[in-house]
Amino acid sequence: MTAFRIPHEHGSPEGENSTYVFPKRGVVIDPGPSGDRPYATLCAGLDDRGLDLTDVGEILVTHWHSDHAGLAPRLATAAKARIHMHVQDVPLLSDYAVARRRRTRRDAATLERWGVPAPVVSNVRASDAPSSIPDTVPVVGHEDGDSVVGLTLHHTPGHTCGHVAVRADRTLYTGDAVLPMYTPNVGGSDTRTDGENPLATYLDTLDRLSELDVDPRARPGHGQSVCLPERIETTREHHRERVRAVVEATPTEEMVTPWEVARTLFGEMSGIHAKMGAGEAAAHLTYAETLGFVERVDEQPRTYRATARSKQAVERSMNH
Ligand SMILES: [Zn+2]
Ligand SMILES: [Zn+2]
Repeated sequence: MTAFRIPHEHGSPEGENSTYVFPKRGVVIDPGPSGDRPYATLCAGLDDRGLDLTDVGEILVTHWHSDHAGLAPRLATAAKARIHMHVQDVPLLSDYAVARRRRTRRDAATLERWGVPAPVVSNVRASDAPSSIPDTVPVVGHEDGDSVVGLTLHHTPGHTCGHVAVRADRTLYTGDAVLPMYTPNVGGSDTRTDGENPLATYLDTLDRLSELDVDPRARPGHGQSVCLPERIETTREHHRERVRAVVEATPTEEMVTPWEVARTLFGEMSGIHAKMGAGEAAAHLTYAETLGFVERVDEQPRTYRATARSKQAVERSMNH
């Protein structure tokens, strides 16, 4: 089953977004960011292959982020197509207006809990512009393993709660679960995960992806292609390194917030980078806490100190 790719020049900080089209099945994966320019890119990409909007019947969205899902409602309306997502991400698109208000409030409360100063939180809110998406959108919800016209949805949580990778024969479309240039953000990219252990969830996703019997060459949500086994290994290594870095940035004598750890690691941050940076630090601290390298002292704001055993133990125990 062959698919072709439509690149969106103006994607997100993760690089140009990739839309994939299966002409014979009438399927589109991740239509792209909302707005007139991406929509023109999408229509031109279909037209180049002799396709018309009415040839599209099913739209698969890997996760709720607007650079992937943004165009889905507009395409669905124009093509009279259905939108499919994992149930856990459905509400963020299907109930867009209410869910967006709830999400921006949750993001702000979470940032405050992570020790992010009020002016930075305000800046994050101000830079979080709404997409041109209707208040409500019809979306079909799916569970892990469901299929849509022969394509299988694999639940791959971590980056978002309801992220899916899509399998077509032996080719895997990874969305943001595995990316060629960057490691997908964990923690800040879906603040619903803060009560859990999002890095552990994501590392489990990598384990499950590495067990799939698919071609090593996969198709990511940003960029053209990715060598799955190699990239999974470098992504794991990246997180091992980052756990070490986070523990090193946490003193044993004083308490620090996830934001202070993020500042040590990443320096000055504003807008979406502040949310993503603080989220990364928070997710790695939660993970380090379960390994006994740091202990949580307080919750409002959240503070940590490193445990006595931490520094020597990090090396030994991170062989995930
Ligand atoms: Zn994303
Ligand atoms: Zn993305």
